[in-house]
Amino acid sequence: MSEYTRDFFLALDNGDELADFRTEFHLPEGLIYLDGNSLGMMPKSAKARALDVVEREWGEDLITSWNKNGWFHLAEKLGDKIAGLIGAGPGEVMACDATGLNLYKLLSMALDMRSDRKVIVMEGSNFPTDNYMAQGLIGQLGRGHEIRFAEKDEILNAITEDVAVVSLTQVHYKTGHLLDMKAITEKAHEVGALVIWDLCHSAGALPIDLNGCQADFALGCGYKYLNGGPGAPAFIYVAKRHQGAAHQPLTGWWSHAAPFAFERDYRPADNIWQTLTGTQPILSLAVLECGLDIMGRADMVKLREKSLNLSGYFIDLVEEHCGDFGLTLATPRAREDRGSQVSFRHEKGFAIMQALIADKVVGDFRAPDIIRFGFTPLYTRYVDIWDAVMCLKNIMENDLWQNPEYSKTSAVT
Ligand SMILES: *Cc1c(COP(=O)(O)O)cnc(C)c1O
Repeated sequence: MSEYTRDFFLALDNGDELADFRTEFHLPEGLIYLDGNSLGMMPKSAKARALDVVEREWGEDLITSWNKNGWFHLAEKLGDKIAGLIGAGPGEVMACDATGLNLYKLLSMALDMRSDRKVIVMEGSNFPTDNYMAQGLIGQLGRGHEIRFAEKDEILNAITEDVAVVSLTQVHYKTGHLLDMKAITEKAHEVGALVIWDLCHSAGALPIDLNGCQADFALGCGYKYLNGGPGAPAFIYVAKRHQGAAHQPLTGWWSHAAPFAFERDYRPADNIWQTLTGTQPILSLAVLECGLDIMGRADMVKLREKSLNLSGYFIDLVEEHCGDFGLTLATPRAREDRGSQVSFRHEKGFAIMQALIADKVVGDFRAPDIIRFGFTPLYTRYVDIWDAVMCLKNIMENDLWQNPEYSKTSAVT
């Protein structure tokens, strides 16, 4: 018999120092949401903020809002708030554009700074948009760059003297494995390469120390662990020492040294403004700030500890209660090797996840066979882990996933 009972998890919730954060989010009735790594929950404050920015700032103040309501500096202001979460300094981060777009800008800048080298190191199994963007850029540059794909354990060896840039995602979107930012960055610098860190699955999920690791560039998503809302602006980081040193290819007016001088010819800003393109989506930035303000008050060390406890108990419970049903763990078992999600492989994964969602336990499915559960310590309770696994057990024990309804696919999985 295991030591775990529902009461054991209720007791953990009673002693949880982060428990109060849950009241700051809108919680749909009866839902166990384990997909905050894909789309974070809505901060309650977002609704009032959205209304205010629409009714007062846009409706009443109109164009004067660029100055009066701080619209012009919003991307920078939010960037500074994100900087505090990822170990960057003020003036090193902008909240802007989309993740893929920011990667394009950074890759292009890094290749420009290492113009005598032709190799980009990437993890082939990474979230595809990162690979696609690199492939698109290589085609456009037409200068014979190549991607050297390397998986987790091959990365250090792949970083050799011919490498221009190493472009990696810190936490893997499918398996949740966590790469060693410090060791990889050091190795890259040893051979004279630059590093771009994609923080999509780590910003807001674990402590990150970009400056401590001497990272060159980074980017990430606003709508995952940062709870910025669907399609929220992403972020981009350029270490102070590189600002102004590279050519940012999307030379829109907001990246000009003096946008309101309306000069004929392009002159880049020599600070983080060089990463911008043009007018930013103010409504989206405004609600992203609500998520950032909550995250900014959370103690990242405590958050990481709770995240690892949640994922660790989840692994234990699935293996104890669902061990006979062919689910294999795809996430590293060692705490220090994983981010804030747990994935299992199962050939009927798609239908299993649909059955879970029908029972109000929401995770997601990643082809071909991964069911994925994200743990967001600000609004996920320990008892949710118990209840979610009991639900999974019921589905597996009674073959509920065999319901043909659960094999119907939609556009988004
Ligand atoms: C979520 C995610 C993205 C998303 O890119 P968008 O441009 O926002 O669609 C990109 N890369 C990684 C690694 C991700 O996890």
